[in-house]
Amino acid sequence: MEDGAAEDTNGKDGGREGRQRAKADFRFDDARLCFAFAGTLADRGTGTPFERLARPEDLSRWAVQSACTTAAPPCAEADLDHARHLREAIQRTGRALADAVPPSPADIALVNRAAAEPPSMPELAPDAATVRWHGDSIAAVLSMVARDLIALCASEHRSRVRLCGNPDCGVPFVDTSRAGARRWCSMKTCGALVKKRAYRARLQAPGDGA
Ligand SMILES: [Zn+2]
Repeated sequence: MEDGAAEDTNGKDGGREGRQRAKADFRFDDARLCFAFAGTLADRGTGTPFERLARPEDLSRWAVQSACTTAAPPCAEADLDHARHLREAIQRTGRALADAVPPSPADIALVNRAAAEPPSMPELAPDAATVRWHGDSIAAVLSMVARDLIALCASEHRSRVRLCGNPDCGVPFVDTSRAGARRWCSMKTCGALVKKRAYRARLQAPGDGA
């Protein structure tokens, strides 16, 4: 719900630090790793996308929050630039899967180059309940993201990729529901937001309500 509130007020009250932070929060709900990464560019369907990877530090933070690594890897502007290119290749490939058309060979080549880097390595604690991820570079993290897309493409779930039904969002997701009727990248964000908008529209529809 906080997500919806934050996104509804975006732009009107952008100077309020708390609300900006909510908007800038990374989203991992219900998302595969590769598409959670695609979601670091929000509001794709609007004329003004919102960049959650605004600075190199943001990418370092995403690396830890995504559980791709345990310690924040150093990140330079060039890493961020590369990461954004990979992200857009993943977004376009997700869209191609959703549309059941062949992805761009250039995008596939970019994904393959990222996946060719050594990924972060897991180390299981003796309690078998805690994992430390050792990835000392952004390249290791991006490799995991690229490998996740490759694993998806090689799986039966490739035919279950859809684009989020919130037209402002447009991030791909994998519909693993039995009925195959999932419509949102996440019920907690886009699903809640669209339902709230529909509810408001119903309230305003009858009579002479504004
Ligand atoms: Zn969405």
